[in-house]
Amino acid sequence: MISAVFSGAKNLLIGLGVTFRNLVSKPVTICYPEVKREMPARYRGRHFLNRDENGLERCIGCSLCSVNCPVSCIHVVGAENDPKNPVSAGERYAATYEINLLRCIYCGYCEEACPVDAVVLREHYELADYDRGTYIMEKDDLLVYPEPNKFRVNFLGNTKIVK
Ligand code: SF4
Ligand code: SF4
Repeated sequence: MISAVFSGAKNLLIGLGVTFRNLVSKPVTICYPEVKREMPARYRGRHFLNRDENGLERCIGCSLCSVNCPVSCIHVVGAENDPKNPVSAGERYAATYEINLLRCIYCGYCEEACPVDAVVLREHYELADYDRGTYIMEKDDLLVYPEPNKFRVNFLGNTKIVK
């Protein structure tokens, strides 16, 4: 009987110790969405298309990203560049470039397959929306413009700059 009381008291103190330790420790949770977690540099989130240092589109419409996509969610239609008014630095450019983010599994194979570092998956993870059409990303949604490392994001009906 007495040993049971001691055992109960001991377990109670152990439990209180755990509670007290967590009361004074740094929380592992954050107050999202007011506070946003910084993602690792290699995190594979939302896709973007890069431009080169002259402002031309890097994508040359080769479709290697599309061929390597395991779920066939990239649609590319290449076209010949007009030499007087080129869209990209190569002979060809992507007249149409679409990614279906609902089908994408964020494997990063498209980024690895691209010979010119045009398509990239970045740290942006806020992809929730009520409209399925939003998830069909077209060139205008994907091009990093006007400045590198600042992205136009249209999810949830907002247009905002994310550094
Ligand atoms: S991340 Fe993977 S699944 Fe998504 S578009 Fe690229 S290759 Fe396809
Ligand atoms: S993003 Fe890269 S791999 Fe895909 S079509 Fe453009 S240049 Fe080719």
